[in-house]
Formats: sequence, C-alpha cells, structure tokens
Amino acid sequence: MSAYDDQNIFAKILRGEIPSFKVYEDDETFCFMDIMPRSDGHCLVIPKTPCRNLLDATPAQLAACMTTVNKVANACMKAFDADGISLQQFSEAAGGQEVFHLHFHIHPRHEGVPMRPAGTMGDMDVIKAHAAAIAAAL
Ligand code: 5GP
Repeated sequence: MSAYDDQNIFAKILRGEIPSFKVYEDDETFCFMDIMPRSDGHCLVIPKTPCRNLLDATPAQLAACMTTVNKVANACMKAFDADGISLQQFSEAAGGQEVFHLHFHIHPRHEGVPMRPAGTMGDMDVIKAHAAAIAAAL
C-alpha cells in the first residue's frame, strides 16, 4: 500500500486550502458535504489526522469517526425525514477508493429510492442548504 499523500483533496479541505460545506467538526473529526451527491444529504466523515483508509487507520481514528458517523447519521434521519442510512467506506483503488484520506460516506435513504450514479456534480446551492439542514438537526 502506498504512503499517505498530504496533497489529497480532503487534506487540502482540512487545511482550508479549498472550500467545503461543513456539517460538523470536533477535535478529531470533520464532516462535510460530498459535491457529487449520490443521495440528498450525502456527506463524508474524515479524521483530522493523516490516514489513507480503513487498512492503516488506528483504533482511535476509527472510534472517533464512528462516533461522528453515529451523530451525523441520526441528524440526517431527522433533517431528511429519512427511512434509513447507507454507510460506505472504500479502501484502495481496487476497493473503489478515489480520494486517499480515510472517509465514510453517509447516505440518508428513503424506501424505494435508489442512490444516484457516482460522478455527477451537484447543485451547490442545494448542497449548501442540505449542509445547513443537517447541522441544524445536530
Ligand atoms: P471514494 O470513492 O474515494 O470513496 O469517494 C470520494 C468522494 O469524494 C466521491 O464521492 C466524490 O464525489 C467526492 N469528492 C471528490 N472531490 C471532491 C471535492 O473536491 N470536494 C468534496 N466535498 N467532495 C469531493
């Protein structure tokens, strides 16, 4: 497995070098919106410390991320009146990973509504409003 590269896009978001729609943060984790949302409210939870993916994550990084995932997932249930949550994590290119800083995808889900295909840029005004709705539900 390759070493962690601090030029990845999420490391740049953490350093404030590129903008993001923040949902939540604490000392150890940051949650922000995915700009190519596969569901309304699709957001990402990442550790603030360097970590490539599930395979090199420490127990402390995983515990911190899961604590935030739990909080944000419940806020998403409320904010979107959702029926459930899909949680995704991809590790290494063969596992579907494209950005090599550990992240967990949170998808609010509604009965009978499939997730959209990956890779389509969302409407930034809508994504911003969704970030605010999740933050308000926290
Ligand atoms: P992966 O396949 O690595 O699990 O997912 C990477 C995710 O990052 C994708 O869902 C993609 O839409 C999202 N993404 C890629 N570039 C950016 C970006 O610049 N900002 C944000 N907020 N999300 C991004």
